[in-house]
Amino acid sequence: MEFSQYNVNALMYITPRPELIFTEGSGMWLTDHQGKRYLDYLQGWAVNCLGHSPQCIQDALVTQSKKLLNPSPAFYNAPAIELASLLTANSCFDRVFFTNSGAEANEGAIKLARKWGQLNKAGAFEIITFDHAFHGRTLATMSASGKPGWDTIFAPQVSGFPKADLNDIASVEKLISDKTVAVMLEPVQGEGGVLPASREFMQALRALTKKHNILLIVDEVQTGMGRCGELFAYQLSDIEPDIMTLGKGIGGGVPLAALLCRDEIACFVPGDQGGTYNGNPLITAVGVAVIKELLAPGFMSSVKEKSEYLSKALVALSEKHGLQGERGEGLLRALKLGSNIGGALVEAGRNMEPVGVLLNSPRPDLLRFMPALNVSIAEIDQMISMLDELLTQAKK
Ligand SMILES: *Cc1c(COP(=O)(O)O)cnc(C)c1O
Repeated sequence: MEFSQYNVNALMYITPRPELIFTEGSGMWLTDHQGKRYLDYLQGWAVNCLGHSPQCIQDALVTQSKKLLNPSPAFYNAPAIELASLLTANSCFDRVFFTNSGAEANEGAIKLARKWGQLNKAGAFEIITFDHAFHGRTLATMSASGKPGWDTIFAPQVSGFPKADLNDIASVEKLISDKTVAVMLEPVQGEGGVLPASREFMQALRALTKKHNILLIVDEVQTGMGRCGELFAYQLSDIEPDIMTLGKGIGGGVPLAALLCRDEIACFVPGDQGGTYNGNPLITAVGVAVIKELLAPGFMSSVKEKSEYLSKALVALSEKHGLQGERGEGLLRALKLGSNIGGALVEAGRNMEPVGVLLNSPRPDLLRFMPALNVSIAEIDQMISMLDELLTQAKK
């Protein structure tokens, strides 16, 4: 079918999209409506941690859909209990609340922190967040995000999110008052341009929040579930936060996210939190299948090997083309282009023949790479050689 035969205007316009309809995906590859294939370094925005349509997710969906879809969140179900147990057994957290999106998990984290503030800190409610942060697109999480204007474009919005600078502990300390209940950050700012919080900063933040008896919330919607080379990115800094949110990779491509906290913080009472689809067995069964793959012997060490391989290949490419190097943690990496050619590279990569490459440019001078965690060395080599060609073309 031709693109023009699809009634794309039946969809609400929210962003410019290329004139492609993706019809199939397998591992690192996507296929469009005309049968053209693309090497996919977006993976649904770091969502498909095991690539497109992995066997374990297909099996989990088929098996669970024959058993039970949704008994209602007012009843227990076995996959939700199993997934929560696997998450708590492999992290410093004790309690899990499942949600359907990262923004909803963060919204829950904000509510939990404010509730804890009402009970323990005389109604303190402010949550210090960071410039360039991204926490989602609900009214509260837009305010919590550090994108210019995002706290006011749908005014009146939720207030109480003063902004500090990443890796600048003094900028956080300055904002702490008796209204402060928590500090919230991404261990690596993803949408902001793959900006890692340093190990020293994370440790200083933990010490500072302990000293003032305020909560430390890590938004690991993008960095969690193996993406940064450890199961959770907070583990890179040897600290234990109070609250964590997960999304993206936790469902491997299906809508699943989670809010986790330590036992002492779990202060919701009936009526405070809930949701029709939250923790339904169909989707949590997928989560169980995904985390079991990540926990399998050798999986995380292979993620580390591939991260090092990708990092070295990007450094070599940067040297060859006179770019500004690369940065990131694990398989969340960025190439610093040194000029605003990101958008042009993304478009040229998509248009390459006979196969295209899907890249992402969160800032005009940067490319971000978020391959499946089980990407092969050959698929890294292929992307690097395609990007080499694109960079050579761009200079002409
Ligand atoms: C993607 C993302 C979110 C929002 O998740 P949704 O599932 O799109 O609501 C929140 N925080 C971070 C760090 C993200 O990368």
